[in-house]
Amino acid sequence: MVKNICVIEGDGIGPEVMAEAIKVLNTVAEKYNHKFVYHYCLAGGAAIDKTGKCLPQETLDKVLSADSTLLGAVGGPKWDNESPENRPEKALLGIRKAMQVYANLRPQKLFKELDSPLKANIVGSGIDIMIVRELVSGVYFGQHSESVENTEKTATDIMKYTENEIKRVAKVAFELSLKRSGNLLLVDKANVLATSKLWRKVVGDMAKSYPNVNVSYMYVDNCAMQLIKNPSKIDVILTENMFGDILSDEASAIVGSIGMAGSCSIGDGSRGFYEAIHGSAPDIAGKDIANPIGMISSASMMLKNSFGMFDEAKSIERAIELFIQNGYRTQDIMQPDKKLVKCSEVGDIICSYIIGRS
Ligand code: NAD
Repeated sequence: MVKNICVIEGDGIGPEVMAEAIKVLNTVAEKYNHKFVYHYCLAGGAAIDKTGKCLPQETLDKVLSADSTLLGAVGGPKWDNESPENRPEKALLGIRKAMQVYANLRPQKLFKELDSPLKANIVGSGIDIMIVRELVSGVYFGQHSESVENTEKTATDIMKYTENEIKRVAKVAFELSLKRSGNLLLVDKANVLATSKLWRKVVGDMAKSYPNVNVSYMYVDNCAMQLIKNPSKIDVILTENMFGDILSDEASAIVGSIGMAGSCSIGDGSRGFYEAIHGSAPDIAGKDIANPIGMISSASMMLKNSFGMFDEAKSIERAIELFIQNGYRTQDIMQPDKKLVKCSEVGDIICSYIIGRS
């Protein structure tokens, strides 16, 4: 199979983790007789430096014509003084909106070999959570304004959801729940927010068509607490854009490191947008110590969700398991008596498991 992949390395550790994911994809292509054609594009700080714009039209055109897009991470202090419309993070929002990838899937699973900051009795029965986050609406896409009211500086951010925006992402979460435990948790703030009340109404109505899914509801503040007190009891979380952003960072910390988690953003077609959930990590950029497993997992999700390459994706997942089981660790997940490896070594080790050489 030939697939055109738009590759946005981005800023900070983005190019470092992307290089490892590309090694892995090349190995999969060789083993399974596929051809992946990479179209390298600029977005974020790197694009501002070269073109003055955080999201050049050329990149947007490539993203919309490729079979799928991989992104490292964008942003960093160098571009903090850009205008709000040209900040690196705006590029991300622009790509997500243009692709209409409204459902962001963020699996968070604790490998039994890795340490969680939570006590052993809490993680005893394991952590395996799937967060389904709405990605192209809500407060991040609402109007943001600043004004002066009665001589006082004032700022406003508008959070808006339509019924259809909720329905389409909820459908993804219902279908996923059917393939997992059948338990779906809607996380909101329905005691305060009108948007949350609409989410409850829409999801409640849809539940009638999914008799095999048990829907429950939780306020976001309680969910932040339950993720730490009872993570094993949570399976699929469905939530709006900003709550999903915050809760998935929290969930990534309890499964060991933010560097381990991949993500997949999908819409109506097969084309998707794949990125690790971490940012550009300026504090460790250029040191060859970043954990690229989140980016490699994102590439694996692309093979499965956009290209229907199930065996290929499984071979990557299995290789990541072997990497961990055989004691290899990047600095963020290092434990006593384990083998510390650099970011640039991770892809090679994982590739060796894919081809079955180790
Ligand atoms: P971050 O995720 O970049 O870093 C948070 C912490 O996690 C840091 O201590 C970092 O060293 C560590 N970390 C992150 N990824 C890691 C990895 N792969 N391996 C090991 N450690 C890792 O979040 P931040 O510091 O809040 O943001 C830094 C920049 O990234 C900001 O400009 C922010 O806007 C941007 N950002 C971009 C994205 C994206 O591109 N999708 C997402 C979040 C933040």
